[in-house]
Amino acid sequence: MALEFAAKIQRIPVYPAADGYAHPGPVTNLASNESPYPPLPAVVEAAQRALGGLNRYPDPTNAALRAKLSGRYGVPAERIAIGNGSCDVLLAAGEALLEPGAELVHAWPSFSVYPHLAAASGSRAVTVALDADDRHDLDAMAAAITAATRLVLVCNPNNPTSTALPLTEIAAFLEHVPPHVCVILDEAYCEFSSLGDPDASIALLARRENLVLLRTFSKVYGLCGLRVGFGLCGSQELRAAFDQVRQPFFCNAVAQAAATEALDHPEEVARRVELTIAERAAVGEALRGMGLAPADSQANFCWFSVGDAADEQRVVAGLAEQGIFVRAGTPLGRPGALRVTFGTREENERFLAAVEPLL
Ligand code: PMP
Repeated sequence: MALEFAAKIQRIPVYPAADGYAHPGPVTNLASNESPYPPLPAVVEAAQRALGGLNRYPDPTNAALRAKLSGRYGVPAERIAIGNGSCDVLLAAGEALLEPGAELVHAWPSFSVYPHLAAASGSRAVTVALDADDRHDLDAMAAAITAATRLVLVCNPNNPTSTALPLTEIAAFLEHVPPHVCVILDEAYCEFSSLGDPDASIALLARRENLVLLRTFSKVYGLCGLRVGFGLCGSQELRAAFDQVRQPFFCNAVAQAAATEALDHPEEVARRVELTIAERAAVGEALRGMGLAPADSQANFCWFSVGDAADEQRVVAGLAEQGIFVRAGTPLGRPGALRVTFGTREENERFLAAVEPLL
């Protein structure tokens, strides 16, 4: 007899997992926007210390991590939502805010998890095309807000297109969002942006109870393997609702310890950001030298067209044969495009040498 599933199982898109995990031999993984740099030794030590206490459940209030984040960002601890990666906070927001009859507004192409929120909740996704420069079209997004809108997602810098908008444009957009509509500003890559101070958005929280700034330890902190992220919320009600819909222990003890320690090393984190920004400039120049036109990257990855979907498949497969894994544009919403994470100098040179003859 066929099993019966909830109707949402037909609707929820399967997350496009990166290839390469089963590849025999050495792999150059430029497919998941990870940091190429291992976690700091002090962070590894903190994680190791936490291992000795694994007979206990993790602190469900995430007290130490929230206190440290509160000091770092000047946001009260009760307005900081922790998650098993920032994805966990994002999905919790979908569950807390959306239901049949409600609407969610987000750009497309954007982060591939966003379509999950409407599909899981039975609400309607209103997707807004990016502008000609592959950036969010905030005027069109403001126009897409209706009486049914509960949640708006703005990804800045945007995954997969790598582009960002200056904060002044985001702030102006927020003026057009009614106060009962939650806005999640997904800033997973904000530390890589050269458009301004990545922490300037925090000032917006003081005036906007409906705003959530979504941040993560997965990118600049190099801790994606542990899964820990956070949302800085404009109101305590949002944080409480996000916690209410989840299992009690959504952030494991090792992740909490490592993330808390990571916040004590801002100079080292900044140094790694500088390294990535230097790679961004070098890879961008090399790609332009090959006649490609990468989008204006403000993130730790680049986005460019190699032709049509068949060209995309050919280049991705040609790289994969050499153990180099990048993301194909088709599953991300743009046939013919590639998304390539910046690795170390060596990894980037390997990619550049391999891609040129495939074009
Ligand atoms: N937002 C964006 C835009 C992302 O690209 C990612 C990760 N790829 C996330 C959120 C989630 O990251 P994590 O769950 O690892 O914090």
